[in-house]
Amino acid sequence: MASLKLKHIVFAGKATWYLISSPFKLTYNLSGLVAQTIGAGLLVTRDSFQCPGCSEPISLVGRWECGWCGYMFDGFFFARCIVCGAVPPYIACSNCGVGVKNPILYP
Ligand SMILES: [Zn+2]
Ligand SMILES: [Zn+2]
Repeated sequence: MASLKLKHIVFAGKATWYLISSPFKLTYNLSGLVAQTIGAGLLVTRDSFQCPGCSEPISLVGRWECGWCGYMFDGFFFARCIVCGAVPPYIACSNCGVGVKNPILYP
């Protein structure tokens, strides 16, 4: 009878732990997702970022040509091409030529 009670307590303990820990896990996953979304949002609202090679600002807005289909467009460099759907994997610095990976594809 005593062992049955003990099992019951252990089970109750596990259930309580699960109930306590699961909201934390959920919050943890959610905060990661939110951070990712905010990161992508910040990038999209920025029109340039600093080149890691020469520290010159690399402009992300202007006239670009899709590397896949050659479609010319005005706008944000890392935007998806509306003709072929390609996303540029990197941008090359116009000053020193250093490539910077697309932070949306490679966070
Ligand atoms: Zn294209
Ligand atoms: Zn550069």
